[in-house]
Amino acid sequence: MQREEKKRGNMTYTKTCKWFDVCPLNKFYEQGKLDKKWIEDYCLNHYLKCARYQMEDEGIYHPDNMMPDGSIDKRLG
Ligand code: SF4
Repeated sequence: MQREEKKRGNMTYTKTCKWFDVCPLNKFYEQGKLDKKWIEDYCLNHYLKCARYQMEDEGIYHPDNMMPDGSIDKRLG
């Protein structure tokens, strides 16, 4: 999955979620269990609207199979 990065001077800006490498949804995607649209819509572009991101930020527990929109996918994890 290609990440979009922008360079300004010596700084690199990314639109990718800072938890992308450790997020279980990335693992599910690499295993072919998760639709790419979740990754593109949230992880690589609009992570601030992700329910997982918001809960992680506030230290609130959320299960591995919770989608970025807050729904639970019982087929996963
Ligand atoms: S699912 Fe949410 S928390 Fe996980 S990497 Fe994507 S945007 Fe970040």
